[in-house]
Amino acid sequence: MKKRFIPVLILILLSPLFSAETELPVQYEELTAPDFIKAVEKSGGICILPLGILEKHGAHLPLGTDLIDVREIALRAAKKEYCIVFPEFYFGQIFEAKHQPGTIAYSAGLVWNVLQETCDELGRNGITKILLVNGHGGNNNLLPYFCQAQLAEKKDYAVIWFRAEDDPEIAEQITKLRKTTTGGHADETETSMMIAHRPDLVYQDRAGQQSGEDQNRLNIPHGYTGIWWYAKYPNHYAGDGSYASKEIGELILNQEANQLVELIKYLKNDDTVLKLQQKFYKEAADPLKTKQ
Ligand SMILES: [Zn+2]
Repeated sequence: MKKRFIPVLILILLSPLFSAETELPVQYEELTAPDFIKAVEKSGGICILPLGILEKHGAHLPLGTDLIDVREIALRAAKKEYCIVFPEFYFGQIFEAKHQPGTIAYSAGLVWNVLQETCDELGRNGITKILLVNGHGGNNNLLPYFCQAQLAEKKDYAVIWFRAEDDPEIAEQITKLRKTTTGGHADETETSMMIAHRPDLVYQDRAGQQSGEDQNRLNIPHGYTGIWWYAKYPNHYAGDGSYASKEIGELILNQEANQLVELIKYLKNDDTVLKLQQKFYKEAADPLKTKQ
């Protein structure tokens, strides 16, 4: 009896090793070229492009906070619903923090071109749906315009900007746990996210070294101007990270990862966006033939 059980037991113990061997990595840079072909197929042609930036995050969080956090969300989602996750991408809009140490603010043309060429290259490699998953608030005006600009010329791929929304139940749990009511940058919630998955990078005792209060130095009526953020938060810090907690961070990370899973699943099963784009490009090439 015993002899028959031992080989079975060994097989059971080794099975995670075998399955790990056949499991495709989600991280683009970890795939071999032959496995990349399998990954494109398994993902339904979906690749997440997580976007972050190098900028000050108070005195207590690392310069790369936005990308470190958003990659965690992307990886959690991709492991639940397979898709490819593009490597570290630190190109974005961050002129408003040029006065702070460590900011890398590339020119607008370079940011645009590197983003467009990255998408074009993904398209050339068989990716048909590119999900921009953004961790940096300074990109929030750039990305919808970038998506819109994809209609200018015919493409074989679609660019989709992931937009997480507040789930009312989770928002209520977060509100109950929160100790501050203001925020916006390196604040209680953003610090909580980093504590949840990379506590080694958080120096919470330094979070009170500078003020993250709104200094309200510009009251321009009915007008938007680039200096608005600096007018409010010259320390490039909005809120207070001193009160952050792992619980809040986990709630936010999982909420966003779960919503991203929903989007990936939808795009795997639905090609409407690609079909409509192709119809549009065809009509745009010869608008006089478009039915009036
Ligand atoms: Zn940030």
